[in-house]
Amino acid sequence: MYDVYKIRQDFPILSVLINGKPNTFLDSAASAQKPAQVIEKMRCLYLEEYANVHRGSYYLSEQITIAYEEARSKIHEFLNTKSDKEIVFVRNATEGINLVAATWGRKYLKAGDEVLISEAEHHANLVPWQALRDELGIKLKIFKVNDKGEYQEEEYLKLLSDKTKLVAVTGMSNVLGTIFPIKEITRQAHTVGAKVLVDACQYAVHQKIDVQDLDCDFLVFSGHKTYGPSGIGVLYGKYDILNSMPPYQYGGDMVDTVTYEKTTFNEPPFRFEAGTPAIMQAIGLGEAVNYMMTLGMQNITAHEQELTQYTTEQLSAINGLKVVGEAKDKGGVFSFNVEGMHPQDLAFILDKEGVAVRTGHHCAQPIVNRMGYESLARASLGLYNTKEDIDVLVGAIRKAQKFF
Ligand SMILES: *Cc1c(COP(=O)(O)O)cnc(C)c1O
Repeated sequence: MYDVYKIRQDFPILSVLINGKPNTFLDSAASAQKPAQVIEKMRCLYLEEYANVHRGSYYLSEQITIAYEEARSKIHEFLNTKSDKEIVFVRNATEGINLVAATWGRKYLKAGDEVLISEAEHHANLVPWQALRDELGIKLKIFKVNDKGEYQEEEYLKLLSDKTKLVAVTGMSNVLGTIFPIKEITRQAHTVGAKVLVDACQYAVHQKIDVQDLDCDFLVFSGHKTYGPSGIGVLYGKYDILNSMPPYQYGGDMVDTVTYEKTTFNEPPFRFEAGTPAIMQAIGLGEAVNYMMTLGMQNITAHEQELTQYTTEQLSAINGLKVVGEAKDKGGVFSFNVEGMHPQDLAFILDKEGVAVRTGHHCAQPIVNRMGYESLARASLGLYNTKEDIDVLVGAIRKAQKFF
């Protein structure tokens, strides 16, 4: 039913030789490859239907506005939001979080209030809150994971109180692969009146999302990780909350009426989309989520889970290799260390074999340090990866071990 070999044909880059070897791409957690459907859609529009959106009253502008708003509807379907007015197009997940911090945060948080995040956050869901802490005098609280990188409910509940105004948490860690129980985390946050922001950068790639079921207040993800273009991301917010927030940036499209004395602002989502948006990227993202929905999120999850299981078995059979992040509930992200080898040197040798892995602190320095490392290699899975990819990775690691 899920024919991964057929699916791979949608991704032309996977057939490109790398250093003379087949392309074994295992860095989708940093950015995923794009199917031809996404590339073709953008190409055709640029060639035949390009104009600015929400402006001209002529054919091309009307057509492109329809396509842009259709992309918004696709995201609405992808996340099962109540309305497409709850979808704000931003540059990436990072901008989505910064938008919430700068608008909702500055309006609703005051000195002494607490923002609660997990120990496994990407810098994008840590540094904006730290900056707000320094600006407003709020407190930033951090709940711990255990040595396996697992979520610990008691650690979360220990820090959750009626001082907590926002819980900002990742759905899936980009270092550990840990999947956080965001529905339960949200339910518990709401009992103390806190709002919840979910960083779904990794989660949205691997799991079906239903924001009405999760009941989270905000959720962000990036287009380039969900098989779409870079330069585009999504901020979901419950409509009433978005509608209570001041603008993020000022200019065209986000206004209602403008005089020299006073300007009134447009309603969400347009209030938060100042200036000409990333038109083609938004439409490309609509096509990308449509691609995933056509394959079926459940099918993608099932395929990746089988492969995650296989990867865990294969990597743990390598002497001297330690996988960092061994949560029971984890997705296809494998950070690891090989004894006696700097990750950078390892990656260099893997690259010669056509294998792409990432190395470093993965924009989540605190969790890498907390697990006892400065730097790790990371292999991550996408919907197009196969057991053969893992076999090539394992063979290349064993080859590297012979050098050291
Ligand atoms: C990649 C990533 C981000 C940041 O995404 P950008 O596209 O760089 O804005 C945030 N959180 C997690 C968990 C990520 O994996």
